[in-house]
Amino acid sequence: MQVRKNRSVTNKGPAEWFTGDVYIDPVTAPNEYSRTMAGHVHFAPGARTAWHTHPHGQTLYVTDGVGLIGRRGHVEEIRPGDVVEIEPDEEHWHGATPSNFMAHVAINDVDDQGSPAVWGDHVTDSEYTA
Ligand code: MN
Repeated sequence: MQVRKNRSVTNKGPAEWFTGDVYIDPVTAPNEYSRTMAGHVHFAPGARTAWHTHPHGQTLYVTDGVGLIGRRGHVEEIRPGDVVEIEPDEEHWHGATPSNFMAHVAINDVDDQGSPAVWGDHVTDSEYTA
């Protein structure tokens, strides 16, 4: 057992994977025993991921604000306490609403190459507001 005090460094979400201002606090990273990684992700109003998939799926646990979870042709509001279970290779995006912050814990396993996600196109404004 190891207790890590909160000294994590907040990382800015890179522009090739996100639209708008996104900040990620690492929670846990893969190691020799586990492929699980988790992060606490904060989205400013209007910010969202690009379209992407996860080779081993993903669980999102909403902790704050009001957010959106999108799949092709369907956008749904998510709020604190909501849990989103994303299937392996299911195309989706997640983010804040245009007028609220949103934070979630994102939990997923990495693949054999250590990658948690496969990234695609940015979510257009018309997809975001659909
Ligand atoms: Mn995802």
